[in-house]
Amino acid sequence: MIVVLKQNSDKGHVERLMQHFTEMGLRINYSEGEHTTILGLMGDTTQIDERDILAYDVVERVQRVSEPFKAVNRKFHPEDTVLSVAGRKIGAGYFNVMAGPCSVESEAQIVEVAESVKKAGASFLRGGAFKPRTSPYSFQGLEAEGLKLLLEAKRQTGLPIVTEIMSEKHLDLFADVDIIQLGARNMQNFMLLKELGRSNKPILLKRGLSATMEEFLMAAEYIFAGGNTNVILCERGIRTFETMIRNNLDISAVPLVKMFSHLPVIVDPSHAAGRRDMVQPLSRAAIAAGADGLIIEAHNDPKCALCDGAQSLDLPQFDAVMADIKRRAAFEGREMQ
Ligand code: PEP
Ligand code: MN
Repeated sequence: MIVVLKQNSDKGHVERLMQHFTEMGLRINYSEGEHTTILGLMGDTTQIDERDILAYDVVERVQRVSEPFKAVNRKFHPEDTVLSVAGRKIGAGYFNVMAGPCSVESEAQIVEVAESVKKAGASFLRGGAFKPRTSPYSFQGLEAEGLKLLLEAKRQTGLPIVTEIMSEKHLDLFADVDIIQLGARNMQNFMLLKELGRSNKPILLKRGLSATMEEFLMAAEYIFAGGNTNVILCERGIRTFETMIRNNLDISAVPLVKMFSHLPVIVDPSHAAGRRDMVQPLSRAAIAAGADGLIIEAHNDPKCALCDGAQSLDLPQFDAVMADIKRRAAFEGREMQ
């Protein structure tokens, strides 16, 4: 349930109303925007009689929220959330491109890619150290050593880093990581979601391979429920009956997230199709649909990549795609970070 307050309400009266809700055992999500102030109520609101609340003179209106996601719901927070990470703004028209290899392979590789994508205009370096692979016999990532190499690339280039976590046991290793990625395969790993909710790190939450929009937003709600409100959503393609591409980019996820949530949403055109020749058209679609950014795989030598070479752009290709992204983002009124 949300309670919309009248503008310029007396603070003391608002506090009394909030106390009333607290005494009923409800949690309150206080959201003060430019035009409206909203109390979002969480817990068992069935006990509330709307007429009792309307009797408070500070109350403009009361609305039941039918969706199961509350704190991430736009009704609880009508304005777009803007995160600030390593001096970059994310959300509400600020546009970020995160780029780098699927996995970190060596210092020379990650530093070369970092330097190149930075020069092209990327605002974050991506790269996996812990890799979720379908086969136990595939390259599993350099793990802790990979994180060290990413931090070295960050030190040398100044690019902040985004990298995937696979177990809550590793959280200490991620202390200097700027954005922790929660991969598609772990979107409903509830222990991991709870642990990330207790941290204060920005989380890039990728949509599960067959997750509905409601399940996706409920996963973000888990992180919020633990107290961490630094969440970026990522649409990365879903499973369909189509076999000619790896996944199917659900472009409607972008406007849907914007309608139902205040969180930033970015698109991963690399995992969405699994083919490098589709990265540019899908990036264009993402910008046009209103995405707040892109995460793109780029590699110095894709044919020798240890993971996801077929969808990785080589560095000159990334330069060309990035130039196109900048033009189109500017056309759509986005501010590159
Ligand atoms: C990745 O970013 O390399 C990755 C494994 O992504 P996803 O979880 O979307 O498959
Ligand atoms: Mn990958």
